[in-house]
Amino acid sequence: MNWHEIDRFLMGEAWSGSLIKQHLTKLADVIGPRWGGSPEDRCAAAYIRDQMEIAGVDSADVEPFQLDSWNHGDVSITLPDDNNRSIAALPFLRCKPIDVTTPLIDAGHASPHEVEALGARIKGSIVLSSISPEPFTSAEPFTARIVRLAKAGAACVIAIEPKTGGRMEYANSDEWLNIRPQKDAIAVVKTSSEDGAYLRRIASGSPQVHVSVQSEYIDTEAHNTVAEIKGSTHPERHLILAGHHDTVLNTPGGNDNTSGTIGVMETARVMAALVKEMGVRPGMSIRFATWSGEEQHLQGAKAYVARHYSEAAANQEVKPLLNINLDELSTGHMKGIVLAFPHLRKFMQSQLDTMNDGLKCHVLAHMDAHSDHFPFVEQAIDASITWRWRFWARHEDANFHHETADAANKLNVRELKEYAGQLARLLLRLSYVSPDDWPTNPLTISDVNQMIERDAGGHHPAFH
Ligand SMILES: [Zn+2]
Repeated sequence: MNWHEIDRFLMGEAWSGSLIKQHLTKLADVIGPRWGGSPEDRCAAAYIRDQMEIAGVDSADVEPFQLDSWNHGDVSITLPDDNNRSIAALPFLRCKPIDVTTPLIDAGHASPHEVEALGARIKGSIVLSSISPEPFTSAEPFTARIVRLAKAGAACVIAIEPKTGGRMEYANSDEWLNIRPQKDAIAVVKTSSEDGAYLRRIASGSPQVHVSVQSEYIDTEAHNTVAEIKGSTHPERHLILAGHHDTVLNTPGGNDNTSGTIGVMETARVMAALVKEMGVRPGMSIRFATWSGEEQHLQGAKAYVARHYSEAAANQEVKPLLNINLDELSTGHMKGIVLAFPHLRKFMQSQLDTMNDGLKCHVLAHMDAHSDHFPFVEQAIDASITWRWRFWARHEDANFHHETADAANKLNVRELKEYAGQLARLLLRLSYVSPDDWPTNPLTISDVNQMIERDAGGHHPAFH
């Protein structure tokens, strides 16, 4: 292997052969928001599959799966008849339908002492709460505070967005790592920072507020895409590079996750070009997947893992040696790889060192269920995310996800070119280490379940 020649080809092709602009325009501007299970989501999957074929991979398919989803209709927060000031309203994801008019009360940050002080007044009321935690107290996820308000009998929660300027992110009311999620427990509607402050000013008069959410739960079909470049030395084993192509409602998801989707497509393209133009195939096979339903509890990646690797699968495959998950790549440039399990740390670092770019390998100290690596982790498959910004070097202008303004201009084109080249170099190196020479994973599925149980419901400061 002439790594110098190969690296030069991969980085050059990632840079000068880039189709990022074409893919970005198609996915984020022409197709637009891609809520899992929607026609747009399906259209994106078909486009990605077609582009994988054009890039020259050995196979490219769309894999349908059943998605447990819902549709949101109108949502509103309205004030008493003599006050027609408009109030911004956005349902939390999977918010149940509600139509209620009751007094509004202000619970501050819904911390324990605040909820206790309000006592029986919470029962049957619409409760206003900041999403940001109470300063100087031990941090507690908002999801845990929602549960506290639900237990105290609140009819509904109005959550105040921490971001200002009218920006509002779609959010979930149940923590994904919760083993017994609180979904459907209580309706939660978000309002803007500015309108929340107004509600707070009038709440002392206990005005009768009307909250209405139209929504319905549905079963629908959604679509993953799976492409592959066959390996030369160990074609029966594989590594997976993947990221979700779906978005939350009403956003084209420039950062979350058109960036990761195009990262998968471009890495596949430059690796396929390496086969065509230099005759260099990976050692093990490389699979390139994009998931739907990430924003709906990781259902796409879960369906893929169940279909391909679970004992119940019709054609159970040998598990991959590693999953690399790409999500929100525009938050920072590629600084390394973060593993879910520790035993590959030295091995991964030694591979990164051969690239001579200062990339670092780190290991998550806790179970992280915030993206599509998690369904692999649950099956005790080695999984990882890319190190982009956490702890330092987050791009402030890329602090966008789950909101309308996460548009195509939030995708950082030049950094994404670098990602594609670096990921291709890394995957090629990893594919040439014989599966027998990879450190064995000592963890079983039951070990992993215990680790999840240990961390469920906790607050992880590195992520907030
Ligand atoms: Zn995402």
